Parts: sequence; structure tokens; C-alpha cells
Amino acid sequence: MPTPSRLDLPGRDDLARAAADVASMLPSELEPLARLAYNYRWSWLPDGPALFRAVDGRLFDRVGENPVRLLMEARRDVLEAAAADAPLVERIRAAADAVDAELEAPDDPIGDGPVAFLCAEFGVHRSLHIYSGGLGVLAGDILKEASDLRRPYVGVGLLYAHGNFRQRIAPSGYQEDFWQPIVPERLPAALVTNGDGTPSTVEVPVRGRPVHVQIWRVDIGRTPLYLLDANVPENDVVARWITSRLYVGDRDTRLEQYVLLGVGAIRALEVLDIDPAVLHLNEGHASFAPLELARAIAPGGDVLAVGKAIEQARARTVFTTHTPVPAGNEAYPIELVRATLGPPFAAWTGEIADLGQIDGRPDVGMTSLGLRLARTATGVSELHGRVSRHIWRGVFGAPTDDEVPIGSVTNGVHVPTWLGGPMRALLDEALGDGWLARADDPATWAPVLDIPDDVVWNARVRARHGLIDWLRDRDVADRLARDEPRAAVDAATDALDPDRLTIGFARRVAAYKRLPLLYRDLERTAKILEHAQFAIAGKAHPRDLDAKQKLAGFFLLPWSDVRIGARMTFIEDYDMSIAARLVSGCDVWLNVPRPPWEASGTSGMKAAMNGAVNASVLDGWWAEAHDGRNGFAIGDPAAAELVEGADEQARDDADTAALYAVIEDEVLPTFTERDADGVPRAWVAMVKASLATVGPRFCATRMVREYVDRVYTAR
Ligand SMILES: *Cc1c(COP(=O)(O)O)cnc(C)c1O
Repeated sequence: MPTPSRLDLPGRDDLARAAADVASMLPSELEPLARLAYNYRWSWLPDGPALFRAVDGRLFDRVGENPVRLLMEARRDVLEAAAADAPLVERIRAAADAVDAELEAPDDPIGDGPVAFLCAEFGVHRSLHIYSGGLGVLAGDILKEASDLRRPYVGVGLLYAHGNFRQRIAPSGYQEDFWQPIVPERLPAALVTNGDGTPSTVEVPVRGRPVHVQIWRVDIGRTPLYLLDANVPENDVVARWITSRLYVGDRDTRLEQYVLLGVGAIRALEVLDIDPAVLHLNEGHASFAPLELARAIAPGGDVLAVGKAIEQARARTVFTTHTPVPAGNEAYPIELVRATLGPPFAAWTGEIADLGQIDGRPDVGMTSLGLRLARTATGVSELHGRVSRHIWRGVFGAPTDDEVPIGSVTNGVHVPTWLGGPMRALLDEALGDGWLARADDPATWAPVLDIPDDVVWNARVRARHGLIDWLRDRDVADRLARDEPRAAVDAATDALDPDRLTIGFARRVAAYKRLPLLYRDLERTAKILEHAQFAIAGKAHPRDLDAKQKLAGFFLLPWSDVRIGARMTFIEDYDMSIAARLVSGCDVWLNVPRPPWEASGTSGMKAAMNGAVNASVLDGWWAEAHDGRNGFAIGDPAAAELVEGADEQARDDADTAALYAVIEDEVLPTFTERDADGVPRAWVAMVKASLATVGPRFCATRMVREYVDRVYTAR
């Protein structure tokens, strides 16, 4: 049976009802705002965030930019004042009409059904805190871009009762983790119901017991995102805990999450009557999905039928691997996997052991399983494709790396999500109407080269000033909360300069990202800080004690010394909105991963779209983007190749030396040298080269088109 048009997919009426409930509490002029609030499309409309901010900007900040809460919690007199603001009401109507028109346009089909895009995390907006880092943000960007391109996708993930952890730095410098409840009733989400008010549910057997799962729908433009939720009264406390936290710490529970995600997604799609043309497993967490698909084809489980069913499931499955780092490629003992999957898969134990084994070990690797159950597999940059062919050679028993069937689709970023105000205005002006729809064409970005240097520079200056205004307040607030001495707080208030070179470094604090390289030679760092300032952010995984130690080491720097501490700002609790601010206002985006562990990296792409210049080790995406004119390369290009048993200490030493040399000898002089009009010509030339080369190649438009043409439809 063909899948109905995506607009009619289950949960649509439930979302409309939820929006109508909120609308009924608003003055009639503001009713369209409720419809806008219930589709994250507002978040990448140029005027979208400003509409909610116009109602009550301070409340919007306090509710974490969650528009549903804003409308539910705003005072009546505030709402009435907004309703009396005729120009605002007109803007709201125009935005709502634009979104309606977009939602009604026909799909550009891929096959005879949508792509079901399965991922453990989705980074759509800061108000939906079910993402951790690059993997989730990429998944969110893909759903948004699919919407823009009118490609039929449905996302499937988990709704975590407490989402991802939050970060607070104790006065000791040690990271404290905490979780906040996610209240879906106060999000732009609705429980999918059967039309009679009862929730649509599925049962997923876990350890031989049925776990009841309800399904929430969240709309990302034209793309529905279905989130499975075990937090229902029918489940006992332990079963409810399965969807408690993103990547919950306990390994057994995490495996149960993966069963819920993989097996649950297939069962949910069935209940929702969605028959996907392609199952896209975005990382190994969802690797049980094709097994469930096969089991549905051959429920009896006799040997011949099983083999055939797996072939049929594989023909519909594609897999993307996102990291070579061992922690991102979990493996579980076959006995535990067998017990967790339980009776439905009793006849499949042999297959699962074979499909999941790694180099003959009796473990089930979630990545090996995904690779073997997919008809096509890809890495997330050219270099990562090569690295993956090497490390996963054993999975395919290939004699050489070149014969390993793993390709690559290099990541890209959703441009309208990540473009800050000043650069958006500049590019809208220079690149012509509808340029975003042509963002993957180099010709679209070519006019950047003809924008007068001072115009580009002024946009950059405005963006930096905006960042520093925000950064100063945020930094001071964080220092006060950390109980820093008042002298340090006062120093920080004065230290940030909106006209100083601002270097951004924000990413998860994981060993291979090497945050400590930035201050390994404190004297040299202090010298750099005479002309520059750093904006740093990042969270260590709650169980990564080594990373927490490293982060604590950062706070042991001579923190109240104005030369160092005050110009090395650390912004706590890194999330998508902090990322958006940093990438839009920093001059330099710095990245010093230990090659080849950075599979792709995407924050540098976001920064480049905003006219920042990348200074990075030639790893991940930068290895294929850097051309000698569009940014700075740190260290030896050959070092990015996989070297077995490389001496990490020696590499850290070499890259530290290279990092200082690049900043001192290249970045600072280029940035500081100005012409008579105060414009740094060589710098602006680099900004333009970066925009013109990174823009078309590392936008999500190019990425999603490649997934469609080279992965989903190619045979
Ligand atoms: C873009 C983004 C990332 C990924 O950045 P990397 O360059 O891969 O480290 C991580 N976290 C957030 C919040 C982001 O917005």
C-alpha cells in the first residue's frame, strides 16, 4: 500500500489540536502565532525568532526560546499589547502564510515511500534537548534541509524524559552534570492518537517483557519527527527508565535503548502505516532496525526464510558511520544481546552473532551490525571514508582497504539555521533572490568575491560586536556562579574588546579534541592574548572522568590574571544557541583534533558560512576543504593519514608547535594589518575565499542531494 501524502501522516491532527488549544488562549490577532509555534520551521525563517521575541523577549529567553511555553506563560496584558501592535500582527500573518504555502507544496519523491531516518539524537533547536553534539545536530540539519528540498523524510528517535545532561562548573573547576525534565506537553509536540483520543502505542519486547511505547510527533518544517517514549504508566519504573536520558550511563540500559530505537522504530512505522522506501540508520545505535524488519518478513525464523528476509531488509537499509573513536562504536556480549532482544529473536541468535562480530570476537558491535545489514554504507568525509575502510576491513573480510564497500558523503550544515544576522543580510543582498535553494552551486556564492572589502569587513565587525556584547554578560554571570573572586569578575568585565581578534573553540571536551593544546605553553598563550581573546565552550561526557580532569585543569590556569583568565572566556553549558552565537561572531574558528579521529566536524562549516576563517588541523572536513587560500592549516598534512601505533605525545608536541606558529606568524599579522581605511585586505580576501569555496560544498543542500542521488536511489 502506498504511503499517504506526508502531510496526512499520523499525528498531524493531534498537533493541529494542540496548536488550537494554545491559540484559544490568545487574543485572536495572535492565533497564527500558535500555529507557527507548533512547527520548528519558525526557527529558520529570517523573521521567525524575532516574532516570538517581540511578544516578550525576556520571557522568551527565560523559557529557553520555547515558543509554546512563551505563549502559554506570557501575561495577558503582554499578549494584548502584542495583539495591538498592527505591524507585528501583519508580520505574524505573513510568516504563517509563508509556512502554510510551503507545507502544501508537493513532495519531490525519492522512491515509493519516504526515507525513514533513524537516530538516537536530533539537534533541532535548543528547546528540544534531545541531542548531545555533532551527530544530533547533523540529524536535525538533515531533516530541515529535507523539508527545504521537499524531499519525503520522516525522522524516528527517542523522547528522553530528561534529555541530555546539562553542565555546571563547580568553584573547584570540576564539571557537575545535571538533568532537567523535558515536559512534552509544553513543547511543540503532540502524542499521536488513534483519532478516538487514545494514544497510538506499540509494544517492544525487551528482556522478554513488553515495554509499552507511545509516540510523539514534532514537525520540522515539512518533515515529521516521531519520538518513542516508554515513560507511560503501564511500564514499571525500570522500563520507564529506558527513555530517561540520552545515552544513559548504565550499559545494560543503553542496550535496551538501542532495542527500543531499532525494533521500536520499525514497529512504530508499521502502526503509523508508513512504509519507507529507505531505512537510513544514522550511526549504529539504530542497527537492530533492519533485524526487526527482517523478522517481520520471516516471523517463523526457519533458516532459509531468515537468510532471505535479511537480504530483503538489507536491500532497503543504508548506514552512515559517524566516528572512528572506540567509545562511539559500542559492542556488547552476544549473550547480553540475546537476552535483551529476548524470545522474538530466539531463532536468530546465530545470524546476529555473525552479523555483529568483530574480527572473530564473540561480541556484537553496533557498527559492525549496521554495516553488514546495509546495502550501502558511508562515512562523513572523504578522509573518514578512507579511515573507515581501514578500520572496518575485517567486517567485510576484504583483502585490501580499497575493496571495503564504504563510501562517503561529506557532512554539510543547514545554512539558514546557522547564519547570523549581519552575514545573512549581506548574503541576501549579494547573492540574489532564492539563493538558499541554489546554495550547493558554486556560481551562487561567486558574487561574494565582488562585494567591496569594506562592506564584508563591516558585516564581520557588526557580527563580532554582537557576540562580544552577549559574551561579556554571559561570562560574568558564569564567573559569579562559579564563585570566582570579584577581582576576576571585574577583570572579565573590562577585558573583552569588541575590536580584538576573537578566536572560537567550542566542541565536546573529549581527549582527541585536545583542548589543552591551547595553553600548553602559557607564556606564549599570554603573548597571543595581548592581541586576541578566546571564546571557549564544551561539555565533557558525564562518565569521561579523564575529560573532566582536563577541563578542571583549564580552570586552574591563572584565572584572575587579566592577561590570561580574563581573555580566555569559558561559556558553560554549550548548546545549539551558544554554538550559533559563537560561530557567527568569532573571527577564527580553531580546531586541533588528534588525526584521524575527527570524522568530519561541522562547527567549522557553520563558522565559515558566517565569514569566520578556519584554523584547523587537516583532519575531517578541513582536509578536503582547505586550499591554501581559504583558511589556515595547522600541522603536517600527511599526519592526517592513519598511522598505526603513532606516538601521541610526539604528535601533540608537533601540533602544539604548529598551532602557536600559525597563530603568531599567520593569523595575527593577517588580521592586524590594515589599509588606510582600517580594512584588513588580506584577511577579507581570505574570508571571501572561504565563503566562496566552503559555502557551496559544505551546505546541507549539497549533502542531502548527495544522499538522494548517490545513496538512496543508486543501485
Ligand atoms: C555543530 C555542533 C556540534 C558539532 O561540532 P564539531 O565541529 O563536530 O565539534 C556540536 N555541538 C553543537 C551544540 C553544535 O551546534
